[in-house]
Amino acid sequence: MLVADTLWIKWVHTYIIKDQCLWAMEVPCDASWTMRKLLGLRRLGQSLIKYQIGNGERTFLWWDNWHPLGLLYDRFGDRVVHNVGRSLRAKVASIVENGAWRWPRLRNHLIQTIVSHTQNLVPHPEMVDSVIWVPHPSGIFTIKSAWEAIREKFPIQPRFKVIWGSHNVPRWSFILWLAALHRLSTKDRLRNWGMALDALCCLCQDEEESHHHLFFDCSYSTRGNVSWDTFRFVSLKSTLTATVYGLWQERNSRIFCAKMKDHTQVATDIANGIRAFLSSRRNVKQSLQNRSICEIWGLPHRIMQSV
Ligand SMILES: [Zn+2]
Repeated sequence: MLVADTLWIKWVHTYIIKDQCLWAMEVPCDASWTMRKLLGLRRLGQSLIKYQIGNGERTFLWWDNWHPLGLLYDRFGDRVVHNVGRSLRAKVASIVENGAWRWPRLRNHLIQTIVSHTQNLVPHPEMVDSVIWVPHPSGIFTIKSAWEAIREKFPIQPRFKVIWGSHNVPRWSFILWLAALHRLSTKDRLRNWGMALDALCCLCQDEEESHHHLFFDCSYSTRGNVSWDTFRFVSLKSTLTATVYGLWQERNSRIFCAKMKDHTQVATDIANGIRAFLSSRRNVKQSLQNRSICEIWGLPHRIMQSV
């Protein structure tokens, strides 16, 4: 691995890696919990880093991903290492001489396969080896490309676009996301975990509190009326997320702060939140519908595109 110019990376190289091969080294017994976890995950990134050979002095022959066939040790194992006569800690430079490959001349067909695949690679003795981050087209590491490369992928759920995006305040989205997954700590779930709680919904005091009840059945939640049916696009999505967030806030305020508002006040607060959020938008397309939404909400005209 090349040594980046940051204090932490230099510290890791000096006190943890100590010139060993990152991929093959044992996890030090005295390493911190974080470092042990990081080293435990290193194989995830091994094939995502490609080495471009310059003089070969910084690239490990058997462990780094520089050869067209991939990681040589993973593919060919100890016997080939033994036959080639280069140690497990050998660098690529050990098979380069005067800018050309100098593999041992052996009849072993595995070694001949390795050698034949290096014919199109040319070492550059005047250059140092460079590292390419494979998942990003620029070859430069980014957190997003790393996450995309290692995460398990599932089909995008239709609800994703309703919950997440610039049409919502992140804290609203987060609560709606938990609600959609039935992961809010509603009383029915807490009781299932063995907590001794009264089961009644604190908004209506009528039925058992659950996700379905809070957001679909509760007489308190369904009483609010802020003319939702006139909204479209952004305002529709914002309305859904803001409403779920507002009801959950009111429920928590009653339980944890002993403060309560009537449904009219909660609906007004939700509407004010949506109005403030919509007012912060810019360059909204000029259309009859959008002008109508602006009028209903009393939004400033500056949010519309200039004609
Ligand atoms: Zn209720």
